[in-house]
Amino acid sequence: MRVAIQGTHGSFSEAAARRRWPGLETLPCREAKDVVAAVRDGRAEAGCLPIENSLIGSVTTTYDLLEEAFGDGALRLTHEILYPVHHTLMAAPGATLESIKRVLSHPVALGQCREWLARHLPDVELVSAWDTAGSAEIVAQEGNPALAAVAARHAADTHGLVPLAERIEDDPSNQTRFLTFTRSDAAALPPAKGGATRYKTSVIVLIDHKPGMLALTLQAFGVRGVNLMALQSRPERSAPWTYRFYVDVDGSTTDPRLAEALEEVEALAARVVVLGSYEAWIEGSRLSAPPPTPAHYTKKPDVPLVDRKRAPEGTRVEVRHVVFGGEAPVLIAGPCSVESEAMILETADAIAKTGGDMLRGGAYKPRTSPYDFQGLGVKGLRYLADARERTGLPVVTEVLSWEEVAVVAHFADMLQIGARNMQNFTLLRAASRSGKPILLKRGAGATIEEWLMAAEYILAEGNPNVVLCERGIRTFERATRHTLDLNAVVLVRQRTHLPVIVDPSHAAGLRSLVVPLGLGSLAAGACGLLVEVHPDPDRAMSDGAQSLDLPMFAELVRRVYPGKEPRSRLAV
Ligand code: PEP
Ligand code: MN
Repeated sequence: MRVAIQGTHGSFSEAAARRRWPGLETLPCREAKDVVAAVRDGRAEAGCLPIENSLIGSVTTTYDLLEEAFGDGALRLTHEILYPVHHTLMAAPGATLESIKRVLSHPVALGQCREWLARHLPDVELVSAWDTAGSAEIVAQEGNPALAAVAARHAADTHGLVPLAERIEDDPSNQTRFLTFTRSDAAALPPAKGGATRYKTSVIVLIDHKPGMLALTLQAFGVRGVNLMALQSRPERSAPWTYRFYVDVDGSTTDPRLAEALEEVEALAARVVVLGSYEAWIEGSRLSAPPPTPAHYTKKPDVPLVDRKRAPEGTRVEVRHVVFGGEAPVLIAGPCSVESEAMILETADAIAKTGGDMLRGGAYKPRTSPYDFQGLGVKGLRYLADARERTGLPVVTEVLSWEEVAVVAHFADMLQIGARNMQNFTLLRAASRSGKPILLKRGAGATIEEWLMAAEYILAEGNPNVVLCERGIRTFERATRHTLDLNAVVLVRQRTHLPVIVDPSHAAGLRSLVVPLGLGSLAAGACGLLVEVHPDPDRAMSDGAQSLDLPMFAELVRRVYPGKEPRSRLAV
C-alpha cells in the first residue's frame, strides 16, 4: 500500500503512518495540498496529514484544505493516528552548540521547541523549512558547522549528522494527531491490529450569523449524548469575519444517535461537509463510553419495562447510601425553595440531626405566576451541594427543562421531575440520559397508566433508576390543595416493580394534614415520604402553608420510628 505524506523520508508523517501500518510505502509530497492531489488522482491509495499538536494546537494548513479537498465527497477520512513527537537538534560532525548560528525546521517543530531554543540558543536565527527530515537533509548537504536542524532522532543517522541535544520539545508529553484518508470509492483500509474498534466523526459546519446558531448546532449532539471531542473555527477567507466550524465527535455515522444529530445539524446549517467516520486511536484518546441506543430506535418490548412481571421482587433504587425499596422507609425533607445559603444549611443540619435521609429543595421553581419567586437557579444548586457536604444527606432537586439537565445533574444526586412536567417527554429522555436516579412525580391530572408510561420513557432511554412519587391529584374538592390518591399507591405497587413514595405536603396543601397522611401512606405500602420542612414556615417564599416546622418534622420521624432515638447523620 502506498501512502502520500507531507515531508520526505524520515519525517514524522512517515513515522506516524508506519505506526499504524508498519510495512507501507510512502510517497513524499512537498505540501499538504500535494498529498490531497496524490490521493485524488490515484498516485497513492491513502494520504496522511498532521491535524493537531498537543503543544501548539491545530495545524491550520491542514484544516484550511479540508473543505475544498472533501467538499465534493470524493475523499473520506479513515484513521486517526497519535504519534509521540520527540525532537533532536542535529548538525554536521564537528559542530557544537556554540558554533550554531541558524536552526532549520518545519515551523510547527520550531514552535514545539520554542522554550528550549530560547534558553539554549537565544541568538540563533530560526529558519522555516518545508519539512523536519528535509531540514536535516539540507544541513547534511551544506556541511556547515553554523547550521543545525530540528528533526526526529533517526534523521541524524539517515543523513550522517550528530545529535547535539535530544528531547528538546517543550513538554515530554508532546504528540501529534494525524488523519489518514482515501478516495470514497476505495476499498476499506486494513484495520488496526487487536483491540476494540472505536470511531470518531469529523464534520465542517457553516452556519448563519444569528444569535444562538452555534449553540443550537452543538446541542444537536449534546442532547443525544454524543460527546464533542473538539471544536475549531477558521476564518472564511473570502467573507471576512465569518467562520467555518470543524467539529469532532465520538462515534460513527452508523450510530443512530449521531446520524440523527447530523440530520438536525444539516437542517440547521448553511452547509455541512461530513469528512468521514474514522477509526480512532484509542490509547491516549479521551473517548467516552458510547451512548446507549435511543429508545425510539429499539423494538417495543412484549412486556413494558415498568411492569411488575419484570422484577416481581421489586426494584431497589440507590441514591448514594440511601436505598428506596429496601427495608426502611426513606424520609426526604427540606424546604419548597432554597431561599438562601444560610437557610438551606440551617434546615439541612436540623433535618440530618432529626433523622431525615435525604435533603430536598427547589432551585428552579415551577410557579403558577411568572411574578412569583422563581428560585435561585445554579446558586441554589451550589448551596444544596454545600449542604450535602456538611450533612452527608444526598440531594434531590427539581429540573424544569431539558436544557438544565446537565447543570442540575452536576450538583444533585437525584433529579426530580415535577407534576407539571410528568409528560414532558423531551425532559424525561434528557433526564434519563444524565444517568442520575429520577424521582418522577405524578401529574395532578395524570392517570396511573400515563404516569407509568412516563416512567417507561425513562427506562426505555436506558436509565433503570426511577422512583415514583404520588403527590395528589386534582378533584372537585377545594378544601385541600389536591386529593391524595392512596388507591394509586396500592395499585401502582401491584403494576410496577419501581419503588413508590408519597408527598403528602403538595397533596394536602395544609401542614396539619401532612403527618397523618404520611403515616397512612406508609401503611398503604409507600416506601418513603417527601415532605416540605421550613425553619419558619409562615415566612417561606413558597408553599409555607403546607411546610412542617422543625418540631412537626421531629414528630413525623418519631411516629415513623416509634421508640427509636433520632438518627444523627451529622459528621461532627
Ligand atoms: C415541589 O416538590 O416543590 C413541587 C413543585 O412539586 P410538584 O411538582 O408535585 O407540584
Ligand atoms: Mn413546593
